[in-house]
Amino acid sequence: MKKYDALIIGFGKGGKTLAAALGKKGIKTAVIEKSPLMYGGTCINIGCIPTKKLIHTAADAKKISRQIILKKIIFMLLPFVKKIL
Ligand SMILES: Cc1cc2nc3c(=O)[nH]c(=O)nc-3n(C[C@H](O)[C@H](O)[C@H](O)COP(=O)(O)OP(=O)(O)OC[C@H]3O[C@@H](n4cnc5c(N)ncnc54)[C@H](O)[C@@H]3O)c2cc1C
Repeated sequence: MKKYDALIIGFGKGGKTLAAALGKKGIKTAVIEKSPLMYGGTCINIGCIPTKKLIHTAADAKKISRQIILKKIIFMLLPFVKKIL
């Protein structure tokens, strides 16, 4: 049976930071993660990065759809503007 000096539950930001700090001090450390989908924790899997990606993509989509609508309006008004000029 393997023996450890420290056992960390959760391979998130906190767990991996603590594991690295303990490892540097020569403390034999094990990290336990309950989910195979959560290596790295909340931030990289479902928190910070995925949510920011969604926010930026939504902002880009909004910008593009505004430009398309504006173009359509310009094309609709063009014949009337030509008549006036
Ligand atoms: C939507 C969202 C957006 C965020 N955006 C930002 C941001 O922009 N900037 C920022 O700094 N922070 C952000 N955060 C906060 C950031 O994600 C957390 O501060 C950070 O993940 C906390 O790290 P942690 O190690 O304490 O917990 P977590 O990263 O949640 O890690 C805990 C880990 O423990 C595991 N675990 C839980 N119970 C057990 C168990 N019984 N046995 C084994 N494993 C277990 C979990 O599966 C998980 O992998 C955001 C959070 C969310 C939800």
